[in-house]
Amino acid sequence: MSGDRGLPPLPDSRPLIVPDSAGLALAGWRCRDCAAPLALDGPWCPRCRGPLDTERFPLRGTVWASTILRVPLPGRPAPTALAYVDLDGGPRLLGHLAGPPAERLRAGTRVRGAGLSEHGDPLFEAIPEEAR
Ligand SMILES: [Zn+2]
Repeated sequence: MSGDRGLPPLPDSRPLIVPDSAGLALAGWRCRDCAAPLALDGPWCPRCRGPLDTERFPLRGTVWASTILRVPLPGRPAPTALAYVDLDGGPRLLGHLAGPPAERLRAGTRVRGAGLSEHGDPLFEAIPEEAR
């Protein structure tokens, strides 16, 4: 490929994380017809083609899966821990695990938002047993 031809940069395609009364929340959508929660916007619900309404989903949920990236990415030193989190009543969201140390969390671990990384990625941390 030969450069960007002077075109403006693409918009950030990640789900939008916004301040909320409880800390941070995902600014997502929910289908008006089938109630499916969505992290990314679209012209209609991908399940039933129903109309979408905006909805805020607090960054609190359950780890669906997590892994450790041992390959450094630009601006992101290795190792880095990532997790897919099923937000309570909301969609599945990819986030980073707060650390160091970079440790995987078992599927089913309860987590909460822990801010944003310097790159704007949502950070999650395990909720201590006594706070669940
Ligand atoms: Zn739907």
